[in-house]
Amino acid sequence: MTKEYDVVIIGGGTGGYVAAIRASQLGLKAAVVEKGKLGGTCLHAGCIPSKALLRSAEVYTQTKNAAQYGILAPEVSFDFSKIQVRKNEITDRLFKGVQHLLKKGKIDVYDGKGSILQSKDVLVELNNGEGEVILSPKNILLATGSRPRTLPGLEADEKYVMTSDEALQMEELPNSIIIVGGGVIGIEWASMLMDFGVQVTVIEYADRILPTEDKDISKEIQRLMKKKGVKIVTGAKVLPETLEKGEGVSIKAEHKGKETPFTADKLLVSVGRQANTEGIGLEKTAVELGPVFIKTNEYYQTDEPNIYAIGDVIGGLQLAHVASHEGIIAIEHMAGAPTKALDPVLVPKCVYCSPEVASVGFTEEQAKEKGYEVKAGKFSFRAIGKALVFGECDGFVKLVVEEGTNKLLGAHMVGPHVTDMITEVGLARVLDATAIDIAHTIHPHPTLAEAIGEAALAVDGKEIHA
Ligand SMILES: Cc1cc2nc3c(=O)[nH]c(=O)nc-3n(C[C@H](O)[C@H](O)[C@H](O)COP(=O)(O)OP(=O)(O)OC[C@H]3O[C@@H](n4cnc5c(N)ncnc54)[C@H](O)[C@@H]3O)c2cc1C
Repeated sequence: MTKEYDVVIIGGGTGGYVAAIRASQLGLKAAVVEKGKLGGTCLHAGCIPSKALLRSAEVYTQTKNAAQYGILAPEVSFDFSKIQVRKNEITDRLFKGVQHLLKKGKIDVYDGKGSILQSKDVLVELNNGEGEVILSPKNILLATGSRPRTLPGLEADEKYVMTSDEALQMEELPNSIIIVGGGVIGIEWASMLMDFGVQVTVIEYADRILPTEDKDISKEIQRLMKKKGVKIVTGAKVLPETLEKGEGVSIKAEHKGKETPFTADKLLVSVGRQANTEGIGLEKTAVELGPVFIKTNEYYQTDEPNIYAIGDVIGGLQLAHVASHEGIIAIEHMAGAPTKALDPVLVPKCVYCSPEVASVGFTEEQAKEKGYEVKAGKFSFRAIGKALVFGECDGFVKLVVEEGTNKLLGAHMVGPHVTDMITEVGLARVLDATAIDIAHTIHPHPTLAEAIGEAALAVDGKEIHA
């Protein structure tokens, strides 16, 4: 017997479960098929567990530096197993929350692997060998997410080579680590492990770390990571065939025309994410697969109008808040409800290293490529009272503005708590605000956000505290 639904969602990660809740709000009968755990990568192997570990690293560093605040804590140490317990408790609590939300929305959850059949029904192979179920949906939403990409020869093993999946489960910290890839995940790990006292070497292929950020931001975060003690090698191509395992790992990288050797206890590969497109029955559909990701239109419809796809499996900005927004838009579109396509330029991007990095809109280089005449306003946290009070004055806010109109094109920040500050400029960008509007916005004193108001004034050389 098949069960009928308005929508069956394959994958209950951030994209899938949020889509299911929106479907329920719109009166659609929805089911989620999840082969692992509701919450997906973000909750179990991404955003939340990594931020829990980063927070412990931050508390450890601050406590070690407590004397600068007049606090005496002479013997500071940490117990990594307790740090892992805390991380797992946070994840478990949020997992229960997601389960509760789906129950509240009367959304059926199937624990098993879903795939599309020729008939466009969905086959669920239930976990624990409980057999199969066939679901008959009017629409299907693919939200199967992604997994760590590896380089041939650098696959994760039980001991030496890890991706972020294995790194999050480490029971003890190594003394030293090589991180292949200086993108968001690589730099968050570099920052956290360095704060825990691990010797970290980052090898990045591009000529700078966080290469998609504004050049000024990459330069500043590279300087600050080096100041922390992270060894950073850019413009270097790791040669997987040179990997040797023994006491630890050794590997060579092509760097400045030479093969340079690197050694450490462990190696973390963070070179991007690979879409989960296999084993979901795409070959039985007209869904078009690009080189790696499922192709959709702006409302996330594939070439089969009743099959939608969202989140990491369609590529683009592989972020949790993007996946959930895409899920909402896809559901609204299939329900015939009013909706609005997502503009990727308006998506805030955050890196939770210490200090943090956050941005929205065009970088200065992108704005120029788009043909804008631009000017930029920059303001350092050194002149911000709250940053001094915090004892964290590194970094700055940079606003990229169109010459003449003063229209805000992009905002880029490195510094304390900037991931919590980026939403102000995100909203400004959505509302098509100018630097003058931002300068007229009253920023309470003392706050870190004053740096945004000052950067807006700095666009025309009118900053007060510089
Ligand atoms: C270490 C790390 C840190 C990150 N930090 C952040 C961050 O701070 N902020 C941020 O915005 N993003 C972060 N991300 C990215 C974020 O986790 C992803 O963008 C987000 O999880 C994508 O959501 P999704 O729903 O598309 O896919 P996923 O969360 O990957 O969920 C997909 C789900 O589908 C299930 N599934 C797959 N195939 C099937 C099948 N055939 N049948 C049934 N179920 C299936 C999987 O088990 C999984 O639960 C991080 C990622 C990593 C790896």
